[in-house]
Amino acid sequence: MLSDHQIIGRRLLLSVAGLTLLSATTACGTDQAEQLAPAPSPAQPQPKAVNVPSPALASPPKPATPPQSTPPPSTAPRPHNAAPLFSLAAADKLVALTVDDGPDPVHTPAVLSILQQYGVRATFFLIGENAAEHPGLVREIARQGHHLANHTWSHPDLRHLPEAKVRDELERTSDLLREATGKPMTWFRAPGGDWSDVSLRVCNELGMRPMGWSVDPRDWARPGTSRITSRVLDAIRPGSIVLNHDGGGDRSQTVAALRTYLPVLIDEGYRFTAPA
Ligand SMILES: [Zn+2]
Repeated sequence: MLSDHQIIGRRLLLSVAGLTLLSATTACGTDQAEQLAPAPSPAQPQPKAVNVPSPALASPPKPATPPQSTPPPSTAPRPHNAAPLFSLAAADKLVALTVDDGPDPVHTPAVLSILQQYGVRATFFLIGENAAEHPGLVREIARQGHHLANHTWSHPDLRHLPEAKVRDELERTSDLLREATGKPMTWFRAPGGDWSDVSLRVCNELGMRPMGWSVDPRDWARPGTSRITSRVLDAIRPGSIVLNHDGGGDRSQTVAALRTYLPVLIDEGYRFTAPA
């Protein structure tokens, strides 16, 4: 499985099977970790205990999985870091709301107010230079329980930058947001969803996972509140990751659309999550 995911990630292909596995890994990571953790062994007296390793250091029993032809290297990146996550496991009506390009002094508070009204947690992909300009808004987003994530420092097209510059864009933003919140960044989104091998690798090396989206109402183009609303409501399905924008221009249409479609989705039984 590790090799398959890595190959998928390098080629930037996302098969249906890969997507399901990626999503399942993310959603169930904690549970799997608990299940796979070795049970603590009581200290047993070791007869003739010469150079016998401690029971705590012994390898846990391997789960019954097909053997790999090559042993996985210990430094291999986690498989769910390889390719962007485009949707969640669609087990029920769980979806993820994402809000990009802020914080913005006008539209971010408006979005926060709506999310608070409906008790919805979202993931905010912040631009570093906006976060540096509005540190109070960064803290407020975190204080209200939303998940902060990395959307580069200056929102460039990463496909046309040398690796050192890509690394600077991501690292600088992660550092700032970690200092503001006390938490490491776990998710990264490339501006425009324009991924590259380099940005995916740097994202992985900085300890983040790449997140895309599956529902894009193109709100940034300001097509009108009703268009944004209908695009979301028509396209959404269990597991969707919905793209919204609270920065980069006048986002009043996005704010109005959120106010319209959120109660509809809630009435339809949708629940919202911000992947950890
Ligand atoms: Zn963006």
